[in-house]
Amino acid sequence: MSLNCDIVMDCVAIYKDGLASEGTKKAVEAHLKECSDCRKYYKQYDSINNISVKSQDVKPVDDATAKFAAISAALNARRNFFAACFAVFAAITVFSLIFTIITGRKTRE
Ligand SMILES: [Zn+2]
Repeated sequence: MSLNCDIVMDCVAIYKDGLASEGTKKAVEAHLKECSDCRKYYKQYDSINNISVKSQDVKPVDDATAKFAAISAALNARRNFFAACFAVFAAITVFSLIFTIITGRKTRE
């Protein structure tokens, strides 16, 4: 089965992504061997695709970093909230302890 250039150029993406059927793969490969225009197109597609794949490879790292930063910020906010609660609790405890000692002394006097 021989393909014309338009069909091969349409198939380059699925061929390159490994989604083409065996028959399409063989037909595209056979055409690329014979047709320099399509080979050129394929090489251009390949180089552009490699760049976008590389940028996709980097993106998850950015996403992971962003997620980590978000989780870290949420944990920090929670930690700060508990620290504030503990500080208030500790202040009330100390204040009531001092108050109890002072009033205790006064009743003994
Ligand atoms: Zn061609």
